[in-house]
Amino acid sequence: MSKIHNFSAGPCILPPEVLLEASEAVKSWGSNGLSLIEMSHRSKPFVAVMEETRALTKELLGLPDRFDILYLQGGASLAFLTAAYNLLPEGGSAAYSDTGTWANKSIKEAKHLGNIDVVASAKESGYTGIPATPKVNDTHSYFHYTSNNTIYGTQYKGVPTEAGVPLVADMSSDIMSKKFDASPFSLIYAGAQKNMGPAGTVMYAFDKDALGKTGRSIPSYLDLGVHLSKDSMFNTPPVFPIFTTLLTLRWLKNLGGVEAIESINDQKAALIYNEIDRNSLFTGHADIDSRSTMNATFKLLDERHKDAFNEAWASAGISGINGHRSIGGYRASMYNALPLESVKVLVDVMNELERTR
Ligand SMILES: *Cc1c(COP(=O)(O)O)cnc(C)c1O
Repeated sequence: MSKIHNFSAGPCILPPEVLLEASEAVKSWGSNGLSLIEMSHRSKPFVAVMEETRALTKELLGLPDRFDILYLQGGASLAFLTAAYNLLPEGGSAAYSDTGTWANKSIKEAKHLGNIDVVASAKESGYTGIPATPKVNDTHSYFHYTSNNTIYGTQYKGVPTEAGVPLVADMSSDIMSKKFDASPFSLIYAGAQKNMGPAGTVMYAFDKDALGKTGRSIPSYLDLGVHLSKDSMFNTPPVFPIFTTLLTLRWLKNLGGVEAIESINDQKAALIYNEIDRNSLFTGHADIDSRSTMNATFKLLDERHKDAFNEAWASAGISGINGHRSIGGYRASMYNALPLESVKVLVDVMNELERTR
């Protein structure tokens, strides 16, 4: 469809066949000739979309039976609050890890509802790494962490079970990118727009048995139990983002699922990081053992090459690699739908810059 190499940090690149099918569904969908976005969400075809999206999410993530899936609104930003509302008992405590901007926001929102202890932090180092997870005490109802730090380009390499309490994670920017064991979790949430679909919906995957234990009164929209009892249709769901997410999940399943994409994601990450380390003009932001396979952050060692580099990648059709304004430099986001070929193009541009300087 286009020759743009889209390294956008979010909303993300989506597979061309998904964009095509989604756009066709906006014009006319199914047998009655209506657009997907002008028919009842309670119609049979859309209820089937919702059910398949929830079931396929559970299947692709390999979640235990006791888990359930919802697709709601409010993004991960509302999930910061929703997580605490549903899992933090009245007067209780929870342990959080501070690994950057989004982690900070999750802490800020949870503080509305209880005592939040920041038990691990990467703040001192300027968020270049993932801090060790301490064993937390059992007055903490859960340990919350951000699995991938989109802005700083750092990522937890494994599930931090060493905390010793149930886990809650914001997986917005690495959901569906690699396999992990979900059994220690009470709740996982992820805004769809980083790795699964367009903006407008957020996925909640949670252990049903962990709900209903806070002793607090929860406003309806923030109560995951309410949404569950209505099969994710408590109010009008965001039909287009959910449908497009379903198309992306089907695409992922056809490709071989999370295991298959993980191996491609590892290849993409190896390519870019090898070049960052090899090329004398560039340096990486994240500590080597904390590097994200989704967002590679790097910068030029000498700003004098900035104009030449910017011109070179732009004319190669590369888009979206400027770093987040809070850290500057560059960020190559390599979400699931970004082809290996796009990373090769970027690496060639970096290589060529060094050769001609
Ligand atoms: C983008 C992002 C968010 C914010 O998501 P919204 O859906 O815009 O609220 C939260 N956490 C992480 C890790 C992100 O990358």
